[in-house]
Amino acid sequence: MPELRRDPITKNWSIIATERAKRPESSLVKHLISGDEIKHDPACFFCEGNEHATPPEVLAYRDENASPDLPGWNLRVVPNKFAALNFDEDFLVNQDNPLKITGYARGAAEVLIESPHHTRNLALQSADHVACVLMAYRNRYLNLSQERSIKYISIFRNNGQQAGASLVHPHSQIMATPVVPINITNEMYGANDYYESTGRCVYCDIIKTELKDRSRIICENENFIAFAPYASRTPFETWVMPKFHSSRYQDLNDFQIHELSEIWKSTLYKIYTGLENPPYNYFIHTSPTQKNVNKYYHWHMELVPKLTIAAGFELGTGMYINIAIPEDCADYLRSIEVK
Ligand SMILES: [Zn+2]
Ligand SMILES: [Zn+2]
Ligand SMILES: [Zn+2]
Repeated sequence: MPELRRDPITKNWSIIATERAKRPESSLVKHLISGDEIKHDPACFFCEGNEHATPPEVLAYRDENASPDLPGWNLRVVPNKFAALNFDEDFLVNQDNPLKITGYARGAAEVLIESPHHTRNLALQSADHVACVLMAYRNRYLNLSQERSIKYISIFRNNGQQAGASLVHPHSQIMATPVVPINITNEMYGANDYYESTGRCVYCDIIKTELKDRSRIICENENFIAFAPYASRTPFETWVMPKFHSSRYQDLNDFQIHELSEIWKSTLYKIYTGLENPPYNYFIHTSPTQKNVNKYYHWHMELVPKLTIAAGFELGTGMYINIAIPEDCADYLRSIEVK
């Protein structure tokens, strides 16, 4: 029986097409884990020894004695050489013609090179290394948010070519924009509506339901939870949230980042191993830089695998057909042991 499920935040519907869903993993695994790991590729811009091939680093975690833009680092953040946004001009919106509203694309586009290793997936790094990546996200957020023209900072990772990664060397991206993107605005509107009618945070209520129901939980610790959202848009869609209420990822302290890194590492590892390194995108949804939305918004991370193709129906409607049952996906991922 196909079923419609509604996301309580965006109010968007998904069709869970259960007729087609058998064991979700059996038909969806793409077998993309390639055999050999390559530690170093002399032709890669992101590998050690080629630091001069990127713009100068804006952040690096490196040995105490190592100099900037030279080997000896564990993680580096550099401006994107082909940045879609930059700080060359001011962002002034010209609305003279309502059909041609325009402004300079002021902002930043940065690349976070997750480790010196040329191929090692983030899922296979230690939880401590994942914590370094999560700390670097916070660090860049705090740094870029000081620039007054920046309204939103988007932190995301494309895994695999089919998910938009153009370079093999594992990396995340950070984009700072002078406007708040529509997906964030929609979530904030939805969360505010819920708050206005109930006096509660919709995300906190979702967590309460998930903890009671338990069928969609993938893993959890004291302060963080990973689960398959009830109205998942794609097979194995996964959300991670703090169990405590906070609208700002950037407010995490070091201890909380370590707790988050355990859950995030487990999530990535289960997806990587259980689905054999599928293409996916993940992103952090946190509050805009200059708006206090703490009453009703709750930061979270969303991981959306690309195991099926969003096509005419999805593009035309914004609704998704999901051929796997979220509870089955969570059950499968729960069963994968993290090493
Ligand atoms: Zn490389
Ligand atoms: Zn909350
Ligand atoms: Zn979100």
